Amino acid sequence: MKRFALAGNPNCGKTTLFNGLTGSTAHVGNWPGVTVDKKEGFYKKLEEPAAIIDLPGIYSLSPYTPEEVISRNYILDEKPECVINIVDATNLERNLYLTTQLMEIDVPVVVALNMIDVVEKNGDKIDLKELQRRIGLPVVAISALKGTGYDELMTVADKASRIFRKGSSVLMDTMLDHLITDVRIALEGNGIQNPLFHAVKLIENDELEVMMHPSTVDMIQEFKKTNVDKTFGMDYEAVVADGRYRYITDHYSPTVQKNIKHIGQNAKSAKVDRVLTHRIWGIPIFLVILFAVFHLTFSENFLFLGGLINDEWVSFSGVPILEDVLGEGAINSPGVIVQSLFVNVIEWLFGLVGGLFGNAPLWLNGLINDGILAGLSAVLGFVPLILTLYLFLSILEDSGYMARVAFILDKPLRKFGLSGRAFLPMIMGFGCSVPAMANTRTLADQDERTATVRVIPFFSCGAKLPILTAVAGAIMVERGSGNPELVTYSMYLLGIAIALISTVMMKKTTMRGEIPPFIMELPSYRLPMFKNLMLLLWDKAKHFIKKAFTIIVATTIVVWFLQSFTPDWQFIPSMENADQMYARSILATIGQIVQPLFTPMGFGSQLGATGWVFVVAAVTGLIAKENVIATFGALGACVVVGSAIDIEADGGVSAVVAMIDSTGITTAGLVAFIAFNMLTIPCFAAVATAKGESPTKKIFRNTVLFWLATSYAVSTSIYLIGTYWWTCFIIAAIAIGATVITIKLFDRKEKKKALA
Ligand code: GDP
Ligand code: MG
Repeated sequence: MKRFALAGNPNCGKTTLFNGLTGSTAHVGNWPGVTVDKKEGFYKKLEEPAAIIDLPGIYSLSPYTPEEVISRNYILDEKPECVINIVDATNLERNLYLTTQLMEIDVPVVVALNMIDVVEKNGDKIDLKELQRRIGLPVVAISALKGTGYDELMTVADKASRIFRKGSSVLMDTMLDHLITDVRIALEGNGIQNPLFHAVKLIENDELEVMMHPSTVDMIQEFKKTNVDKTFGMDYEAVVADGRYRYITDHYSPTVQKNIKHIGQNAKSAKVDRVLTHRIWGIPIFLVILFAVFHLTFSENFLFLGGLINDEWVSFSGVPILEDVLGEGAINSPGVIVQSLFVNVIEWLFGLVGGLFGNAPLWLNGLINDGILAGLSAVLGFVPLILTLYLFLSILEDSGYMARVAFILDKPLRKFGLSGRAFLPMIMGFGCSVPAMANTRTLADQDERTATVRVIPFFSCGAKLPILTAVAGAIMVERGSGNPELVTYSMYLLGIAIALISTVMMKKTTMRGEIPPFIMELPSYRLPMFKNLMLLLWDKAKHFIKKAFTIIVATTIVVWFLQSFTPDWQFIPSMENADQMYARSILATIGQIVQPLFTPMGFGSQLGATGWVFVVAAVTGLIAKENVIATFGALGACVVVGSAIDIEADGGVSAVVAMIDSTGITTAGLVAFIAFNMLTIPCFAAVATAKGESPTKKIFRNTVLFWLATSYAVSTSIYLIGTYWWTCFIIAAIAIGATVITIKLFDRKEKKKALA
């Protein structure tokens, strides 16, 4: 099958084109470095289907970061039948820099002039025919976003792929022409493929190349000694880069006619940037925007109208379903409204399904209703919330705002030993740790990469959301008041704070060293595309639902099974005093053995007879974090049979309330429980990814130990401070006092030493 590789600068629209051509839903984001691995899809409109390969963005073929190596190696080693070079037409000069390198390889290249819609909107003009003549490669204007020019591009690429193309170089216009030719011939004589490309890279002194072709290096040195360049001296990398840019400005730029008027539009964007990336206000603005996102997603007191307006206006009590969905005494946020609607549907549906098993054998009825359906409904109820949060974050990302945040956070993050670039994978962590960890490949420094992989799970992912909101909701039910959204928001902030504190600690101990400077161009502001957003959400929804019906159903079945039988295989629900017998189930027996380990965190041995459920739930979370609440659902439905509380599909809140009532866990213990689940070893998939991203086995082992230690230390502190805060306060005061005095004494000694 023919393979067409998409190559181009970061953020020029490669993935958008890839999705359009292949009907895939790969992640498109308005910042450089979204795609970090190659992806394959199929285009079916040619005579034979062709494979399309989406590659990470590159500015040049001399790679610095691991994800750039992927692109270079693919083009050189895998030899695709044609390279489609995507060029951002609004930024022609800079994008063509890569084109001048691609054309040196012996491969058919077609230039796709993307974002032609923006060019037209701006009123700029590009003389396509002339540009094509000057570049010497086919040029097709497209808009990846609007879907124009696809068919023509593919027909041209298909045609180009049938004809062998010998590499050509714009550097033949410079003083290097003889050298390039000599080196090329020498390499060719050695049977090296793509001799022109390698010749130029060798002359540039590219490390990889010098290692690969030592025999020709002498020849180049000889030349360089006798031909020192006037402006650049011996720096041949600069000579080559200058040669390329000069050629681009002299020969390609004249084909573009800029509309003077739209230069004013750039000024508008600069004005917006002056506010959003303000030295002082930038970060507060970001925090407010982030809070607004959480408020829109989670709040049951939307816009804080609850206390302000007359209760009767917003009381929908006459119509029970409306009250449920729109809120009681206040208005629900859009996120909660969608969630409540969805939960009502699920409850009704599961009621129907569950009812079918009313006359089935007791065990089957138990397995379906108390096991699978209870577990599933606790989890599925969250899908709307996860999607809403994801929608808002995607809008921020697609508009180009997130890249600005990375920029304003660069300075403060540097204090923590990270660069602003690391912020982007971290934010991705709010969605899912797996792609976020893969995205750390865009970071140039290995230590920074390791540190970021380690803290990404602390940016609470979508699957951990049910734990946060269900437990927060239950805490509020128990206290009869309050705002669960604030608990959720603070837990998110706690995660971020722990992430920053731990990177500082890593930098101070195992990872000293400078972080390379932050280079990332700011993408232009863009209106997010509705269609793209919906595709993204659909993809996410599919992922969660698939997980719910596979891993999570499987785990709840196992949990239900282990806890419906005693170690000597007696079925519990058919026994008398079933609710007491549950404490002797297989699961309870195992749970009680490990329970003491969790006592310092407030959900161990101090809890009542059913206290082991917290330990079991945390352990099932290692498979998938949704399991924690699904396990509560399944256990709640049987363990707490005696309790008056009805387990509903309310996103696990009633299940957790049942757990609180039967175990007597304190609020401090509950908060410690959330923190433990948030900070401890993440799910299976994330652990596997972290392993893949670790340079050595030892580093990976330390990563796992780091997660265990951090979660244990932080949750223990939360529980101890929450429970004995008065005592803790005194101890802390003494400790601080002692430290201050020690430092003072020490300083004095040092000073004396210095004087002497
Ligand atoms: P990649 O980094 O090269 O894979 O680029 P993406 O496909 O992720 O796109 C980067 C940004 O450019 C996204 O915000 C896209 O919506 C936007 N984009 C891509 N192609 C076009 C286009 O033809 N016109 C416009 N206006 N925007 C585009
Ligand atoms: Mg991409």
